[in-house]
Amino acid sequence: MTKKIIIAIDGHASTGKSTLAKTLAQQLNYVYIDSGAMYRAVTLFAVKNNLNAEQIIDHLDEISISFDVSGQVFLNEENVSEEIRGMRISERVSEFAAIAPIRHKMIQIQQGYGKDKGVVMDGRDIGTAVFPEAELKLFMSASPEIRAKRRFEELKLNQDVSYEEVLKNILDRDEKDSSRKINPLRKATDALVIDNSHQSKEEMLQYALKLVEKALN
Ligand code: C5P
Repeated sequence: MTKKIIIAIDGHASTGKSTLAKTLAQQLNYVYIDSGAMYRAVTLFAVKNNLNAEQIIDHLDEISISFDVSGQVFLNEENVSEEIRGMRISERVSEFAAIAPIRHKMIQIQQGYGKDKGVVMDGRDIGTAVFPEAELKLFMSASPEIRAKRRFEELKLNQDVSYEEVLKNILDRDEKDSSRKINPLRKATDALVIDNSHQSKEEMLQYALKLVEKALN
């Protein structure tokens, strides 16, 4: 049987983690899991049901999150892939992601996806908390302005949003995600830092594929 590994990709908001994770998974025929989408789906459930951070704890059993093979995200069987990307959710997600019972539930599900290896997962705590034993860990970074510009170009296609709002949200989430008590955003000591401020998607992919080859041997 061919050897399979776990690839953990962490980093700040909008650094291109999911683009790299998705293309890597396609190339390697691995499963891709967007862990941020899971926290976004929980946040959507809270927002829709008018639950605050304390109240949602009693409703976690009512939340089921799944992905289909193409990476679409389902919250209780409903496809929420578009809705979870909206600013309404981006503005609240870090608040809900800081709550211990929510993180415990998400981490359990995420670890389940990795039990047979062959997984690329991106997020904030994948290399530090979800899969501390991952064979390959990457930590992605880029300047806030470049990240905000890329994100804005994507979002403006179907949302009424300004570059300034996007930049503020990115900085705000980075700050909250890095300073929370439970599993804050940190570079794992054995993670390789990739700054993609000036790299193309293809350059990133080729570089990561070389690292995978090394990790496999
Ligand atoms: O990856 P994305 O930017 O969609 O993640 C949205 C939010 O979900 C992050 O800002 C963070 O608050 C939370 N998150 C997390 N841990 C992860 C993935 C995402 O706390 N592993």
